[in-house]
Amino acid sequence: MIQLFIPLNFLGFIYREIREALINIERLFGLLEAPVKVVDVETAPALRISGGAVRFDKVSHAYTAERPILEDVSFTIPAGQTLAVVGPSGAGKSTLARLLFRFYDVSSGSISIDEQDIRSVSQHSLRQAIGVVPQDTVLFNDSIGYNIAYGKPGASDEEIWNALRMAQLEDFVAQLPEGLNTQVGERGLKLSGGEKQRIAIARVLLKDPQLLILDEATSSLDTHSERRILDSLNLVAQRRTTLAIAHRLSTIIHAEQILVLDQGRVVEQGNHQQLLAAGGAYAHLWAEQLRNSEGESDV
Ligand code: ATP
Repeated sequence: MIQLFIPLNFLGFIYREIREALINIERLFGLLEAPVKVVDVETAPALRISGGAVRFDKVSHAYTAERPILEDVSFTIPAGQTLAVVGPSGAGKSTLARLLFRFYDVSSGSISIDEQDIRSVSQHSLRQAIGVVPQDTVLFNDSIGYNIAYGKPGASDEEIWNALRMAQLEDFVAQLPEGLNTQVGERGLKLSGGEKQRIAIARVLLKDPQLLILDEATSSLDTHSERRILDSLNLVAQRRTTLAIAHRLSTIIHAEQILVLDQGRVVEQGNHQQLLAAGGAYAHLWAEQLRNSEGESDV
């Protein structure tokens, strides 16, 4: 019995640890792809955030030795600014986000935040400093209040309502019969993709991190929901250093920088106007999206 109990208990521990660490990033990082555990250097100090400037310096990455995914990627996101990454499926966009969160260590090159190599600081402090709005948020089978306060354990109801208001969920929750105590998840209220994403936004607003990873997901949303999500995302990205993985070009027009990634390499970099004027890969992507979204009012 004891023999059986120990492994089960251990598995439970692993499960809880993964759940705690990854609950709001599971889709971004792929919960089922068991990560190679990154290790803190002994007595690693906490990350000290001044403005939250991010620097990728000649970053290359391969999940398996025979297949390089990112090659020699360099960019800087000045404190408080947004860098949007676009490119075809499989180009390596999410990999950039996984590396910034230090889900994996880079194969070569370095990533730093405010001049501190992220391998030299504690993982806990790094992840505390970064908020993630994933494509698909998984909720706890618990109250809606709990699901939002997850961003900041011990948050007051007032703080939760503030976050809900900024995430444009205040009216929605206010009209639920049990308000913040309404149960959500498999056994409770089912939320739409857009509502779930706004819960993720509310969590991040409550956590109030200096850095943000946005994995934009708008494909399954109608235009009205998309507009609301974009408004909330713009709000949450304000004054935070943001790495946005963008699938729809309409959402990144205002990003200070846009990085076009193709087969793991940076093929273009600039802002929207510069890249359109350059008439290269971005301009082609843009023209293609315009064609695909003909008739939609927001593009
Ligand atoms: P999409 O727009 O479709 O989300 P992406 O540009 O975000 O794509 P990534 O998720 O970064 O692409 O994946 C880049 C490449 O790395 C893909 O070919 C993918 O199959 C591969 N890859 C991703 N995660 C792993 C992993 N854990 N192990 C091995 N290969 C992986």
